[in-house]
Amino acid sequence: MTDTADLAKLFRFVLVRTSHPGNIGSAARAIRTMGFTRLELVAPADFPSREADALAANAVSVLAGAGLHASLVDGLAGATFALGLSARRRGVNLPELTPREGAMQALAAAARGEQVALVFGNERTGLENEELARCHAMVRIPSVEDYSSLNLAQAVQVMAYEQRLAMLGDAPAPAPPEHDEPPADAARMERFFEHLAQTLDDIEFHKGREPTTIMLRLRRLFLRAQPDERELRILHGVLADAQRMASLARRP
Ligand code: SAH
Repeated sequence: MTDTADLAKLFRFVLVRTSHPGNIGSAARAIRTMGFTRLELVAPADFPSREADALAANAVSVLAGAGLHASLVDGLAGATFALGLSARRRGVNLPELTPREGAMQALAAAARGEQVALVFGNERTGLENEELARCHAMVRIPSVEDYSSLNLAQAVQVMAYEQRLAMLGDAPAPAPPEHDEPPADAARMERFFEHLAQTLDDIEFHKGREPTTIMLRLRRLFLRAQPDERELRILHGVLADAQRMASLARRP
């Protein structure tokens, strides 16, 4: 059986476009109390900051080790399973889980040795659709309808707590690997989606329609499939051939 501390190392908490440095400090403290140490910051408005240090209390080591990234995709590098925390259902048609269900799925992924990301949005605007589209499922803390937004750091606390409970619970028999190979990470998936988008343009798939919705649906389809690197190479090969044929077809 894997140790809780070893499992916890496979988790990262990703805060996207955080406005208030105090929330970053409070989030660091929140995850540290639940045995997690890895914080990734995507385009924070103000960091490093004394306010963040002050609110992190004794968890300043979490802040000192926090990664800084320009984009969510960078913050997800190496992770193969991502949950996006959102107070509201967005345009993206992702499966919606409770924190408990999300924690169980995340634990199952970690038990297979996969890296897991728990992703949190900006205080005012939450996670954008394009950000949620990079996640395998959405987690909504079941707050009341007419006042559904928790403070960011408090949402982090709730999820970190649920994740710890799941890890302390009767450890589920490590789930049998679902794949022979580990699934491709977020960065490789992103390169595939870029190639796919370019190919759809090249073969004139959209015929004047707006590509956003179809791309979100295709993302969802391929994220659900969790292809491994070899499978992605095959798909890249298929796309490259389609592009080649399209360019031949365009020749006079
Ligand atoms: N108006 C924003 C609220 C942002 S609160 C929105 O609708 O999403 C900042 C972040 O805290 C959110 O992006 C989300 O990651 C987390 N959060 C707050 N309340 C939540 C809830 N009820 N369920 C899940 N995540 C929540």
